[in-house]
Amino acid sequence: MIVTKFGGTSMASAEQFKKVKSIIDAKPERQVVVVSAPGKKTSDDVKITDLLYTLHTHLQYGVPYGDIWGMIEGRYLEIEEDLGLDCDIASELARIKSQLKKGMDQNYLISRGEYLAAKLMSSYLGFDFVDSKDIIRFTYSGTVDLERSEQNAKKAFSSHGNIVVPGFYGSYPNGDICLFSRGGSDITGSYLARFLDARIYENWTDVPGTLAADPRIVENPKTISQITYTELRELSYMGANVLHEDSISPLQEKNISINIRNTNEPSCPGTIIKRDCNDDSSIITGISGKKDFVSFDILKDHMSTEIGFTRRVLEIFEDYKINVEHIPTGIDSASVIVSGASVAGCMYDIVSKIESELGAKVRAKKEMALIAIVGRNMVGKSGICARIFASLSAVGINIKMIAQPPDETNIIVGVDNNNYQKAIKALYDDFKSVDWI
Ligand code: ASP
Repeated sequence: MIVTKFGGTSMASAEQFKKVKSIIDAKPERQVVVVSAPGKKTSDDVKITDLLYTLHTHLQYGVPYGDIWGMIEGRYLEIEEDLGLDCDIASELARIKSQLKKGMDQNYLISRGEYLAAKLMSSYLGFDFVDSKDIIRFTYSGTVDLERSEQNAKKAFSSHGNIVVPGFYGSYPNGDICLFSRGGSDITGSYLARFLDARIYENWTDVPGTLAADPRIVENPKTISQITYTELRELSYMGANVLHEDSISPLQEKNISINIRNTNEPSCPGTIIKRDCNDDSSIITGISGKKDFVSFDILKDHMSTEIGFTRRVLEIFEDYKINVEHIPTGIDSASVIVSGASVAGCMYDIVSKIESELGAKVRAKKEMALIAIVGRNMVGKSGICARIFASLSAVGINIKMIAQPPDETNIIVGVDNNNYQKAIKALYDDFKSVDWI
């Protein structure tokens, strides 16, 4: 059995619904379909989920919301009509509209995007609709109750067979709706694939697969054919975002592969994400990165021999609940690198605390970009760093920080924000020229 998930652009119009149906019809094994709310039909369109958030703000502040509601209603009615369906989506819409007047819980309202989309899709495919509030159960602390959710999923699948399930939400023990974070329909699909022991989890989107670099920086980057869970998590953590980061671990634990596919090009094989990849045709799997890190550079003579120094520095970051990304160290200096957003309100407090509590001099340097060069086939090979440094030096880029985790699947370099795009492009072009990527 295959669990499929279709993202917002695959749900954006009747034409896209038709593509989904032909994908489902092509393989009877595709028995579980998870859907997002309709996304943008054209680039200047607005996603239904964004419209619902705006609608909720209007409700909250007592601003008239008729126009926004009309846009939401119009999108669903249009799809129903264009497909010639008769699933009475108008009654569902009317019910929600009548509840709006009394005010509405935000999570409930937002979840209606996926709920209504799944109603339409189940009618179109002739699959049973099963509400995700009855499958994905959250604890009050917001984590998925694995045991209960698995029981619910198994029960739903065995009693209904082919099903369509709305993504993005589940429910708390009292029945209230709880949402995953944005883009969370990927996570719903991932849990369903895990609970139902799917042969594979197919995630259908609007790109050919996971790209080896950001297409806004590199022209026509390669689509990665195979990637391990760990490599993908490393690339996603550093900015590549074809799949929600949290949708990987539920499947990694069960060794269920994920296949990223393009609804608009169903004949392309896309990207396979799995534990053991046998394709060793490229040394570098992908490059990603993020801007706006802050480096707290700490200077104190002989700090490297002062027992407990690093722990005391890190405790200060912990007190402010700041996630530390890297800690490069020297003899008389060390730096702590964190995301700029995380210290936006407390950067100077942290500087003064380290200075007063540890007797050190601290400079907080903003605007550092981190670039991750990821590849399972880099492990144990010499000359990788040499190539990275040479290609950055050839375009005059100074490297401010270097980190490599012990498994050697990732090399991270820190450069000035200003050099971010230039560095990624230089690395990609250079790797390409020697067939490393
Ligand atoms: N509709 C939700 C969002 O826009 C969830 C999803 O599409 O995965 O974030």
